[in-house]
Amino acid sequence: MSIIKIKGLVIKEVSYNDSHKMLTLITENHGKISVLARNAKKSGRSSYGTQVLTYGEYVIFKGRTSYIMNSCDVLMNFYNIATDLTRFTHAAHMLDMAGDAAQDSISSGEILNLLVHGLLALQKGRTPLLVSSAFALKLMQITGYPPHVCSCASCNTSDIEQIFFSFKHNGFICENCSEQDTEAVMVDIGTAKGIMYVLCAQKGRVYNFELSDELLNIFSDISFRYISHHLDKNYKKLDMLNEL
Ligand SMILES: [Zn+2]
Repeated sequence: MSIIKIKGLVIKEVSYNDSHKMLTLITENHGKISVLARNAKKSGRSSYGTQVLTYGEYVIFKGRTSYIMNSCDVLMNFYNIATDLTRFTHAAHMLDMAGDAAQDSISSGEILNLLVHGLLALQKGRTPLLVSSAFALKLMQITGYPPHVCSCASCNTSDIEQIFFSFKHNGFICENCSEQDTEAVMVDIGTAKGIMYVLCAQKGRVYNFELSDELLNIFSDISFRYISHHLDKNYKKLDMLNEL
């Protein structure tokens, strides 16, 4: 029986039989994995480190169909995000997107890092919509789908008077090309700078920028539509906040 020690964040927990839990972890270098936590539904030592939003160092071994948890050292937890519905909903949206995007072990360490810094930013009181939408955009870059932003993604001109964002061409396009692209979104210079900032920023600095409410709405619309387009999925969690 080979024991593995890994750092990871619990993005999902579901009941498994009467007393166990099946956890989904995004790990530093093993991609996204399922881990059976025996007796974790009971309170006490065996439930330690098995909650969603726990970042820990897990000792696991390979069972027949999944990994099995042996023990855990909690490095950080983000449970207090759950005390605020808006923050928690954005965090849940980030966990969903991370789980869908983390399909291999190559990018999972970077995704984990981006996620931990994003949860820290939420915990510090950064604007939830800014954090989750910057996360979505950076996640696409990390997993190999960075939007094209250095020239028109359609005709390649860098002489652009009015920038548009095209989901068809995966990035900025010029005003001429936008006439052939009915879904392209007009982007003002502030939003364009926000997009370029996130693509250039590293680690925790991804979330260190400001946008007015109006620009943030355009920025988040672009980020969330971009990720939905690439992962071919409609995310619904944030809709709930609009209905409140
Ligand atoms: Zn063009």
